[in-house]
Amino acid sequence: MLKKVLVVDDSALIHQMYRLVLTRYNCTIADAMNGQEALEVLALQNDIELILLDINMPVMNGLQFLEKASPLGIISRIPVIIISTEGKEEDTIRGLKLGARGYLKKPFQPACLHEMIEKIFKLPGSQPQRMQASL
Ligand SMILES: [Mg+2]
Repeated sequence: MLKKVLVVDDSALIHQMYRLVLTRYNCTIADAMNGQEALEVLALQNDIELILLDINMPVMNGLQFLEKASPLGIISRIPVIIISTEGKEEDTIRGLKLGARGYLKKPFQPACLHEMIEKIFKLPGSQPQRMQASL
């Protein structure tokens, strides 16, 4: 099961919203308001299993975070999903090139995030048809 998620977003309201959307996983949520805070949290907490990353943030934005975190081995170890209002295709492509596993545009359907998480972690419910076929 998913135990701990790091939410990186400069909006406190978004952090509350993620708490609701992630309720089903019973996971702990660590909060960071920008990329710099996220690096600090990651330096102290070694049990984070997923990072939900905004792009547009003060101090250090999401793409800068990916650039800093990648050489530290963080991005290869912990899956990152970018969730951003930024519609700029070049930012999305750059984020995915920097190692993000998925991208969602705000506002997003919770079901889309659930599906992405369940695919990444191969949680039950992600592929009901295949599960049925194997019974
Ligand atoms: Mg933002």
